Amino acid sequence: MISIWLVTGASIAGSTAAWWLAEHGYDVVVVERSSAFRDGGQNVDVRGQGRDLLRRMGLEKQALASGTGEKGTIWINSRGQTVARMMTDALEGDGPTAQMEILRGDLAGLIYGAARGRADFRFGDSISQIEEDGEAAFVTFTSGRTEKYDTVLVAEGVGATTRDLVFPAENEPRWMNMTIGYFTIPRTTADEPLWRWYNATQGRSVTLRPDNHGTIRAALSIQKQPEGEQDWDVAQQKRFLQERFADAGWEAPRVLAAMQTTDDFYFDVLRQVHMPR
Ligand SMILES: Cc1cc2nc3c(=O)[nH]c(=O)nc-3n(C[C@H](O)[C@H](O)[C@H](O)COP(=O)(O)OP(=O)(O)OC[C@H]3O[C@@H](n4cnc5c(N)ncnc54)[C@H](O)[C@@H]3O)c2cc1C
Repeated sequence: MISIWLVTGASIAGSTAAWWLAEHGYDVVVVERSSAFRDGGQNVDVRGQGRDLLRRMGLEKQALASGTGEKGTIWINSRGQTVARMMTDALEGDGPTAQMEILRGDLAGLIYGAARGRADFRFGDSISQIEEDGEAAFVTFTSGRTEKYDTVLVAEGVGATTRDLVFPAENEPRWMNMTIGYFTIPRTTADEPLWRWYNATQGRSVTLRPDNHGTIRAALSIQKQPEGEQDWDVAQQKRFLQERFADAGWEAPRVLAAMQTTDDFYFDVLRQVHMPR
C-alpha cells in the first residue's frame, strides 16, 4: 500500500521534503497557509549539506545560475571607507559571501518548481486540528476539509502553529537578541557587487547586498533584548526602525527613505526552537 504524507509549509524545507518523498514513491500533499507561493526574502548561503542536496536533486547548476552576483564582503566605517575586504574567489569560493549566494525566494521557487509536478500543492489552507490513533493522523483543515494521512511532516518554519498543536508548550523560542528588518530598495550606479556591511554604535548595523533582479537588498539589524516586535504591525515595525536608525550614519538615510515605499518588507526577531523531544 502506498503511504500518504501530508507536508505543511511550501518553503525550502517543505518543498524539498515533498520532492524526496515523491522520489521514494510516496504520495504527497503539501498544504501552505499563504494563498500563493511566497517569493520574498534575502540571501541564503548554500554550503555543505544544502549544496550536496541540491546537486542530488539536479538543481545545483540552476541555483548557481540564479545567484545574486555578489563577489565578496566589505566592512565600511562611518566615513564610508572600506576597512576590511573578503573576496570569495580569494577564499576558494567560501567566506562571508559563499560561492552559491541565492535569494531565498529564488531558491524556494527553484525547489517548488521541481516538486510541484510530483506532489499535490494546496495554497491558502492549514491544519486546525490533528489527532492520531496509532495507525494514522486525522486532520481537519481551516477550510473545513477533513482527511486521513499516514504521516504528517511539519515544515512551517520557526513559528509553526501545527507543532504547537502536536507538542503544546514545548515550542518556547530561545530569543537571540537580534531584531532585523529586511527589504528591497532601488539600486543606484554607486552600488557595487559586494555585500557592504556598516556597524554603527548601539548594536546597530546597516547592510546592502546586490541581487540579480536589478535592486538592492537592505537589512537593518539591532542587537537588543526582544520586546515582542515580531508581532507588531508593519507600520509600527517601520516606525521603530526609522527612530532607531535616524542617526546611524553611512547610508541609513537612503535606506530609511526607501523603506517607506518598499513592497518587500520582512521583519523578525531571531529565535531558535530547542524541543525536548
Ligand atoms: C517570505 C519569507 C521571507 C523570508 N526572508 C528571510 C530573510 O530575508 N532572511 C532570513 O534570514 N530569513 C528569511 N526568512 C526565513 C527563512 O526562509 C527560513 O528561516 C529558512 O529558509 C528555513 O526555511 P523553512 O522552509 O524551514 O521555513 P520558512 O522559510 O520560514 O517557511 C515556512 C513556510 O510555512 C508556511 N506556514 C507557516 N505556518 C503554516 C501553517 N500553519 N500551515 C501551513 N503553512 C504554514 C509559511 O507561509 C512558509 O511558506 C523568510 C521566510 C519567508 C517565508
